[in-house]
Amino acid sequence: MSDLLSTLNPAQQEAVRHFEGPALVVAGAGSGKTRTVVHRIAYLMRERRVYPSEILAVTFTNKAAGEMKERLVRMVGPQAKELWVATFHAAAVRILRVYGEYVGLRPGFVIYDEDDQNALLKEVLKELELEAKPGPFRAMLDRIKNRGEGLSAFLKEAPDYIGGVPKEVAAEVYHRYQKALRSQGAVDFNDLLLLTIELFEGHPEVLRKVRQRARFIHVDEYQDTNPVQYRLTRLLAGEKPNLMVVGDPDQSIYGFRAADIQNILRFTQDYPEARVIRLEENYRSSRPILQVANAVIEKNALRLEKVLRPTKEGGEPVRLYRAPNAREEAAFVAREVVRLGGYQGIAVLYRTNAQSRLLEEHLRRAGVPVRLVGAVGFFERREVKDLLAYARVAVNPADGINLRRIVNTPPRGVGASTVGKLADYAQKAGVSLYEAFCSAQQVLSRPQPVLAFVELLQELMEAAFESSPVAFFEQVLEATGFREALREEPDGEERLQNVEELLRAARDWEVEEGGSLSEFLDSVALTARAEEPQGQAPAEAVTLMTLHNAKGLEFPTVFLVGLEENLLPHRNSLSRLEDLEEERRLFYVGITRAQERLYLSYAEERETYGRREYTRPSRFLEDIPRELLWEVGAFGEAPAPPSHPPAKPEKALHQGFKGGEKVRHPKFGQGTVVAAMGEEVTVMFPGVGLKRLALRFAGLERL
Ligand code: ATP
Ligand code: MG
Repeated sequence: MSDLLSTLNPAQQEAVRHFEGPALVVAGAGSGKTRTVVHRIAYLMRERRVYPSEILAVTFTNKAAGEMKERLVRMVGPQAKELWVATFHAAAVRILRVYGEYVGLRPGFVIYDEDDQNALLKEVLKELELEAKPGPFRAMLDRIKNRGEGLSAFLKEAPDYIGGVPKEVAAEVYHRYQKALRSQGAVDFNDLLLLTIELFEGHPEVLRKVRQRARFIHVDEYQDTNPVQYRLTRLLAGEKPNLMVVGDPDQSIYGFRAADIQNILRFTQDYPEARVIRLEENYRSSRPILQVANAVIEKNALRLEKVLRPTKEGGEPVRLYRAPNAREEAAFVAREVVRLGGYQGIAVLYRTNAQSRLLEEHLRRAGVPVRLVGAVGFFERREVKDLLAYARVAVNPADGINLRRIVNTPPRGVGASTVGKLADYAQKAGVSLYEAFCSAQQVLSRPQPVLAFVELLQELMEAAFESSPVAFFEQVLEATGFREALREEPDGEERLQNVEELLRAARDWEVEEGGSLSEFLDSVALTARAEEPQGQAPAEAVTLMTLHNAKGLEFPTVFLVGLEENLLPHRNSLSRLEDLEEERRLFYVGITRAQERLYLSYAEERETYGRREYTRPSRFLEDIPRELLWEVGAFGEAPAPPSHPPAKPEKALHQGFKGGEKVRHPKFGQGTVVAAMGEEVTVMFPGVGLKRLALRFAGLERL
């Protein structure tokens, strides 16, 4: 048997051997879906003689794309470098860089991030003389563009007011924003996909060419595609689709970004001839971890039943720690991490970024190196954005947003009123801001500083096409006195380090990918926060990240912290069943990242928005049968593992109470159970208040 098949189970082999036509691999976490895709691509190349230049694999993150390609290079050799492995957005950029002109894009178009979007929206709002903040309008843009249904469909469903203005006015904001975006030679992140669809739909000859580059298509994490990505996939796959999608409906966690779980559920309706392959063995997690995962996900009502059997024998029980407060929870994590050692194999996962600070603080205090993923966007730091703005303007001088950003950074005597005059002129003359700069002589009484700036820009424009990214940034730093200006600032030292970090990132990129400044800018724009360079984080470090960012990954040891009501499930998700179930899936994703050891914890008190609050354990903890959890104390000491199943009465006690039940207490009288958790139950007694009681001693009577 081919060695590509020998390390796979029969169902995986079937998927790998599948040749032409559509196929769906649907299976639970850790069942080897991603591995199957990798082996299938290798098999296509080695056994089916398909050229790597005919294979496309779409991954959820750039990092996943990089890793997949690396693995394939190791498996089949350097020709795998020609494979097209990318996220939807990266694939779209590549297509638009070649064919963008068909849909009205200039070759040097830049990609706006949230910051740029906000700046542009602010300009539009000012132009319309609206006193509104850009936030709600950006949310509107996201919503419209993630669904891809266009403005009119959105307006039908939208509330009457958006961001404090009537929705008809908001529609005008949308139009002007789009127009300004294009006239600056820019697109936003979501446009990338929409424009690619427009390109394919309007230009069949282009679609035909791209299809040749994507004769065999794979999409990983298909359960989290949004309607736009769905359409793009269908277009690319065409009439005779060699399309293999893999995913797990139980891990659909991006509904808030319009990901639609229906896409995977209806694959067999879209392609009735599709082969469906189910993988039922889990190779990642030990049996106790998997039992907990299954117990949790089973509780979702809106779901297809799936089987997921462990292949690993033995394994430690899943631990549960109840901390008196969030600080103690973080201290507990730090102590356990130190005790375990082997930092690289440890991840701490949480629901919201705000939770990371305490954890990071305690870990660092305990001397544990930390790799914090995705907290403060590196490329969003001011000085880094400033330097990138120079590059963007050099590549595309029409970019007025970034031009404004750098015109007086570092200060060169071009104040806001000067820029205002030039902007007015630009508007009246119907030219770009940059062109107005070039005409400063006619507009300003003291044009010299602006003209000197224009001269600098012209040098940089040349450099943009002649120099490597690193050389370009060096030139900017040199020519503008950027470093000297930063040194004057109170936190200059840190900012200077960020500048060095950008140079380092550019250097790494040149070594690993290589290419023009404009391509470097693309790669920066496409890099999600979650994947950014983390400064000096050593390889041997504990990983801290949100549950959303942990998708697809695995770690020998996982801490899942903050398992409390209002955190997981998140407070915004409590009113709709769909949202609540997405939160439960998020919990499932977290649990199933663990290979050998899993800690669950919650704190009874936590500061939220600066206020101390008493919390309640997450309702999801109640989904886990008591005997699967092993409660540990503050120092991780656990009672001896039960050598036999826990005595029946204890179990019966716990299982006896559920939220909502009416009970009577000898002293407090009649009450309603709010939550039951392990040995304890919280009861609301009218006139007395909330009481947490130890079941064993409370003498509660069911009514
Ligand atoms: P997720 O749903 O979390 O994305 P997945 O289904 O993509 O998970 P993989 O990440 O591909 O699962 O595989 C999980 C782990 O199991 C990996 O470490 C992988 O190498 C291993 N694995 C998968 N299939 C096999 C197999 N047949 N034999 C041994 N190990 C396997
Ligand atoms: Mg996977």
